[in-house]
Amino acid sequence: MTGENTRLLEVSNLSVFYSGLQVLWDVSLSVNSGEIVTILGANGAGKTTLVHSIFGLVRDRKGKVLFRNADISSIPAYKVVKHGLSLVPERRELFPKMTVIENLEIGGFPRQERVVGYDEIFTLFPVLEERKRQLAGTLSGGEQQMLAIARALISRPSLLVLDEPSLGLSPLLVSTVLDTVATLNKSGLSILLVEQNVQHALEISQRGYILENGRIIRGGSSDDLLHDDQVRAAYLGI
Ligand code: ATP
Repeated sequence: MTGENTRLLEVSNLSVFYSGLQVLWDVSLSVNSGEIVTILGANGAGKTTLVHSIFGLVRDRKGKVLFRNADISSIPAYKVVKHGLSLVPERRELFPKMTVIENLEIGGFPRQERVVGYDEIFTLFPVLEERKRQLAGTLSGGEQQMLAIARALISRPSLLVLDEPSLGLSPLLVSTVLDTVATLNKSGLSILLVEQNVQHALEISQRGYILENGRIIRGGSSDDLLHDDQVRAAYLGI
């Protein structure tokens, strides 16, 4: 794959505060072109805050976010999307009273010049074509997650950021969703994946970071993390 190992995303010394209270401390991480990078961490560790910071959704912060060497630290979310990042937010944030197609249209809004055709989306997610006139709120949990991912793909991102895509899904659907993430990566998409499903997330990713109480306490290859005794004890209950 061309472009592999080039730096796509670089977060440096990110600190975030809510009402003056610090929740992230000097967080630094990177994603290279072609990678899946996993962020692991318990509830409240700061994973969503980190993701929101990348997308310009957090005001009070220090540090830098570079995307393809462009400084995107201080720009609003719709401009971040124009740089080629796209977010699948925690809890999906679909519009339940709008149809599948209407939800997809919204995904194309910030970046109209590079919208992916629905044919491409429906090839990836045939079930969404079957349900295209259905209201998003009537889809099953797994279908809603597929729609949230599809909506994020509409802007043809270079980096897809997924915030706990398996949240609230049955074990079978968790596997389906994470297998989809792996398939997207094999087709060339770089991915930053926030997940609590540690084993599966590390199995499909190349590298990972562990966020604990707002600090990155470990980073390394997914293989090393998966076989690390401390990680296994803390996150896999082994
Ligand atoms: P979860 O897995 O539960 O979503 P998380 O790792 O994504 O957790 P965050 O949601 O980023 O963690 O929260 C990090 C810390 O910041 C927590 O202590 C949380 O209570 C706090 N926090 C999050 N959002 C806000 C906010 N808008 N105002 C104040 N504190 C917040």
